[in-house]
Amino acid sequence: MKRVIVIGGGPAGMMAAGHAALKGNKVTLIEKMDRVGRKLFITGKGRCNVTNASDPQELIANTVRNPYFLYSAFYTFTAEDTMAFFEGLGVPLKTERGKRVFPRSDKSGDIVNAMKRFVIKSGAEILLNTSVSHIVAQNGKITAVKCKNRTIPCDCVIIASGGLSYPATGSTGDGYRLAKSLGHTVTKCMPSLVPLRVEEGWIKELMGLSLKNIRLTVCIKGKEIYSDMGEMMFSHFGITGPLVLTASAYINERMAERPEIFIDMKPALSESELDSRLLRDFKKYANKDFRNALGDLLPHRLIPVVTMLSGIDGDKKVNVITKEERQSLLRTIKNIRLRAVSTTGYNEAVVTRGGVSVDEIDPSTMASKLVEGLYFAGEIIDVDSLTGGFNLQTAFSTGYLAGISC
Ligand SMILES: Cc1cc2nc3c(=O)[nH]c(=O)nc-3n(C[C@H](O)[C@H](O)[C@H](O)COP(=O)(O)OP(=O)(O)OC[C@H]3O[C@@H](n4cnc5c(N)ncnc54)[C@H](O)[C@@H]3O)c2cc1C
Repeated sequence: MKRVIVIGGGPAGMMAAGHAALKGNKVTLIEKMDRVGRKLFITGKGRCNVTNASDPQELIANTVRNPYFLYSAFYTFTAEDTMAFFEGLGVPLKTERGKRVFPRSDKSGDIVNAMKRFVIKSGAEILLNTSVSHIVAQNGKITAVKCKNRTIPCDCVIIASGGLSYPATGSTGDGYRLAKSLGHTVTKCMPSLVPLRVEEGWIKELMGLSLKNIRLTVCIKGKEIYSDMGEMMFSHFGITGPLVLTASAYINERMAERPEIFIDMKPALSESELDSRLLRDFKKYANKDFRNALGDLLPHRLIPVVTMLSGIDGDKKVNVITKEERQSLLRTIKNIRLRAVSTTGYNEAVVTRGGVSVDEIDPSTMASKLVEGLYFAGEIIDVDSLTGGFNLQTAFSTGYLAGISC
C-alpha cells in the first residue's frame, strides 16, 4: 500500500484520488478551498457539459495543444467510460447538439456531489482549506508534501491543481510553481477559450446583442486561420460567445499580430442572392429613409452600425440609393470587420493554454519522467481542447490514468 497525496479537488484530482484509493492505496486529497469542485460547479453555465459522446479519435481531433499526448489517456478512459462512470454513480445523463453530454437534471451540482461521494466511498480522505506549498523529493524520489505548518510523508504525489483561469475557484497556478521546483519545464501560459477585446469603439453600442447563424472568419496577415458558422455576442469591450471562444484557441498566441475578424451576417446567401434580396427590400421600402429599410434583413440594433459602416447617409431615401452604394451595403453585411487587440484574460478564460511540458510526462501513466512518484493530471498539463465537454474529458482521462498508475 502506498501513501498517495493528490493536490487539488477538481475533476482530475477527484478522479485520480478515487481510483488510487480503489487500488488499495492510502490516499489523501488536499484541496485549498472550502469545498471540492468549485470550478466544476460553474461549468457549462451551471449545467456541466461533462463530456462529449465522441470516440477517442474525435477527442484527439478536438484537442488543440499536444493532442497525441492524450492518445493513451483517451483510449484508456473513454467518453463512454465517463458516461458509464456518472450513470453508475446515479447521475442520469443526456446528449445534446454536438454530442455534448449533460446531467439530465441540468445541475452541475449533481456531478460535483457524485464525484465527492465517489472519492469518499473509495476510501480516500479529503482535507479542505489546506494549501500544499511544497513537495519534498530526496534522491529523485517523492517523500512528502508541506502545507502551512504540517509535513505529510508520502510515496506518491499527483498534482491536479488546474491552471490559471477563473482564479476565484482556486485555480491560481500553484502547481506550475510546485512542478518547476522539482525541475519540470512549464511552457508559456496564456488564456484560451476566452472573449476578445476589439479596437472598434462602436462595439459598445451593441453590448448584449447576440447574433445567430452568422459566419465568423479570423485572418492574420490576410491568411485565414479560422472560419465557422454559429453564434456570437457583443459585450462592452468586444466579442464573446461560442464562435469567439473557439476562435480564441487558434489566435491567442498571435494577438500581437492583431488578427482581423470578419462577420458574415448572411452566410447562407451568395453575393448575388443577397443583392436580389436587397433589391426586393429596396423596392418594398422605396419611399423610406435608408435607415428604416433594413429591418427585414438585420437585427434592429445592428442597423445604425451597418449604416455607418456602409457609408450611406441614413436619411437618404431608398429610391435614390445608387448601385455602388448598394454594393457597399452588401459588402458590409457580408464582411463586418473587427480588429482583435487582446483577450480579456484569465478571469474570463475557460481554460489555460500551456503548462507542464508533455515531453517530461509519460503519456501512458501520467508519471513524471524526472521524479519518481510524481504524477500530473488535468489542466496543469500543457494540453487544451475546444469547448464541448472535451476539457473535462481530458481531466477525467488523465486523472484516471494517474490514479491507477500511482
Ligand atoms: C466558466 C467555465 C466553464 C467551463 N465549462 C466547461 C464545460 O462545460 N465542459 C468542459 O469540458 N470544460 C469546461 N470548463 C473547463 C474545465 O472546468 C476545466 O478544464 C477543468 O475543471 C480542469 O480540471 P482540473 O481538475 O485539472 O482543475 P480545476 O478544476 O481547476 O481544479 C483544481 C483544484 O486544485 C485546487 N488547488 C490549486 N492549488 C492548490 C494547492 N496548492 N493546494 C491544494 N489545492 C489546490 C483548486 O482549488 C482547484 O479546486 C469550464 C471552465 C470554466 C472556467
